[in-house]
Amino acid sequence: MNYVFGPVSSKRLGQSLGVDLLPSKSCTWNCVYCQLGRTKAFVTERREFFPKEEILAEILDSVTSGKKIDWITFVGSGETTLYKGLDWLIAEVKKATKIPVAVITNGSLLSLPEVRKELLEADAVLPSLNAGSAELFERVDRPAPGFSFERHIEGLRRFRQEYRGKFWVEVMLIAGLNDSEEALKEMANVLAEIRPDMIHLVMPTRPAPESFVGIPDEELVQRAVFILSAAAPVLHPAKGEMKLGSADDLLDTVSGIATRHPVQERELEAALGKLFDGDAAKIREAMEMLLASGRFEKVLQGGELYWIVKSA
Ligand code: SF4
Repeated sequence: MNYVFGPVSSKRLGQSLGVDLLPSKSCTWNCVYCQLGRTKAFVTERREFFPKEEILAEILDSVTSGKKIDWITFVGSGETTLYKGLDWLIAEVKKATKIPVAVITNGSLLSLPEVRKELLEADAVLPSLNAGSAELFERVDRPAPGFSFERHIEGLRRFRQEYRGKFWVEVMLIAGLNDSEEALKEMANVLAEIRPDMIHLVMPTRPAPESFVGIPDEELVQRAVFILSAAAPVLHPAKGEMKLGSADDLLDTVSGIATRHPVQERELEAALGKLFDGDAAKIREAMEMLLASGRFEKVLQGGELYWIVKSA
């Protein structure tokens, strides 16, 4: 197979059959975290890089192979929408199977009406947004000349207005780069305007071309989940589990955690469940004791209840 790989197990898309439409590496950006390495030469012109009939034949071979496939995912060795003819491929796949189709894209070409039109029949489109300001956008995504932050945001916004499928924006969180409170609030403001159905928070877990790229610690990730939840529900696939040492110092332990980042109520309940072996009466009693202490207040954000420490 030249174009199709998998199905691979994906946290977000289950068993995902990948379809790579591009010669490596063809991209409009040069992200600091790119697992394909640095972009040696930008590619900005859209083309049918490989014959679409050959790509379709491989997809149909895999679909009829009997393997479990939850999603057919167009994803490139670079920017997927550089491939001209995505609409034809999506339409032909849909004629042949009911398996939903996803397109993973950096979103940089969504400012072009023809690109937006080519994606309309996809079941899910997952563009990237890694910054809420032009300055940070340039530092993280290092786009080709002409691919400005404003153009990127405008493309996402317009696509949101025209598209009826699932619109899941992917945010790559990088330690020390876009994980500060200020950066996250800027991003949340921009995301609130774009109105994605969901935000997928991802980490640079694979080797990056720049040595300074690192994974934020769990506290900062939790803070990011909380701040970004103001714009849309946040899916954080690699989320860690909250652990409570013992029942003796429960109030101090939970206060200590909530002082550093908001605590999701259902996570707190799950942690108490572990502590008390699922004893519902003890869990309820502990929750009531914590609330009665007066140290916490509950905040609703992105459909989730969080506990935060009351300011003095
Ligand atoms: S958009 Fe994707 S392929 Fe392009 S440089 Fe960034 S991470 Fe790499």
